[in-house]
Amino acid sequence: MKELKDYVRTIPNFPEEGIMFRDITTVMQDPDGLKLAIDTMQDLVKDLDFDVVVGAESRGFIFGTPIAYNLHKPFVLIRKKGKLPAETVSIDYDLEYGKATLEMHKDSIKPGQKVLIVDDLIATGGTTEAMIKLVESLGGEVAGVLVMMELAGLKGRQKIAGYRLDSAVVYE
Ligand code: IMP
Repeated sequence: MKELKDYVRTIPNFPEEGIMFRDITTVMQDPDGLKLAIDTMQDLVKDLDFDVVVGAESRGFIFGTPIAYNLHKPFVLIRKKGKLPAETVSIDYDLEYGKATLEMHKDSIKPGQKVLIVDDLIATGGTTEAMIKLVESLGGEVAGVLVMMELAGLKGRQKIAGYRLDSAVVYE
């Protein structure tokens, strides 16, 4: 029986020299890989109490939406700058390679709602930390962070110390 890691393709030196890129397209394009990814992630949070799933463009949508759908929870979108049409809050942050801005609709989370943040991968934790700050700026309480892959060597877990982090696959 194949493990989730067996579906991930690793591409050296993408998008820059020295980066080992963990590619999820090979997980998604195999029906068994897709099912295993969603089922494994969902199982990791079966004990967690949360009201809303939040995911960031674009790969956070892939994993966040089916989990929200399966558990009959709302799914809230975090998008890149300039994409959301109504009033937003925004945050600038540093990536493993570059800079970015993320935005959320002001009315997408109600104060006190418990939030599960879902993404494909945590590397340095910069993106996750930005998502946590966005959610908290709207009064949401981060119940946990769920990712398909954790690049442990980049110490994202330490960056968001104090928050629960579940990952389906860990790379050293
Ligand atoms: P962080 O902000 O350094 O934790 O980077 C996390 C974000 O960068 C994730 O949301 C990914 O979309 C992207 N990313 C960084 N490294 C990789 C990789 O090896 N494979 C796929 N995505 C990556």
